[in-house]
Amino acid sequence: MTALRPAFGDFLGEIKLAGVRFSYPLKLTLAERFIAPRLALVGDAAHGVHPIAGQGLNLGFRDIGALAEVLHEARIRGEDIASELVLERYQQWRRFDTTTLALGMDTVNRLFSNDNPALRLIRDVGMGLVSATPALRRGFMRQAAGLTGDLPRLLQGEAL
Ligand SMILES: Cc1cc2nc3c(=O)[nH]c(=O)nc-3n(C[C@H](O)[C@H](O)[C@H](O)COP(=O)(O)OP(=O)(O)OC[C@H]3O[C@@H](n4cnc5c(N)ncnc54)[C@H](O)[C@@H]3O)c2cc1C
Repeated sequence: MTALRPAFGDFLGEIKLAGVRFSYPLKLTLAERFIAPRLALVGDAAHGVHPIAGQGLNLGFRDIGALAEVLHEARIRGEDIASELVLERYQQWRRFDTTTLALGMDTVNRLFSNDNPALRLIRDVGMGLVSATPALRRGFMRQAAGLTGDLPRLLQGEAL
């Protein structure tokens, strides 16, 4: 509390502990499979990414949007929505996006938490390049906002 108070200020009111303190490692976790018989994993149950770029929640929203769309279309076609064939469509849709983003975040994390002078140089040049190139900056902003890739309809603001 003594460390948090000066950093946060008091604009949110009194800061106090709501429960017991708990710590867990911030590391990459990726489920080998996102599905099992009549079960689908979404969100952090399927993937845990380092929170440096605030992508965890975005990934979870995309999982839910994709799963809802796959199940909705299966229902319209009269399929068993929990069959392996249907759930496999969800897994195929989400695995590539999740794996590439999770590995990308893991690389960025390793790059930025390393004091090796060569790596520091690479990251400084990279950051400079991104700041100086509006198209690159826009690309990173779109990525950070979760607006890239094969977006489910719900995340494009469309109804199912
Ligand atoms: C420090 C930190 C900062 C982050 N910052 C960002 C950010 O800026 N932007 C962003 O997009 N993401 C961020 N994330 C990631 C984001 O918080 C998670 O990706 C997101 O909360 C995952 O949502 P979820 O519903 O999948 O899982 P959770 O939010 O973990 O929800 C799971 C829920 O299930 C409950 N539960 C667990 N086991 C059981 C059980 N057996 N029975 C019943 N309930 C159970 C838990 O209590 C919990 O309420 C951050 C994560 C951390 C750790």
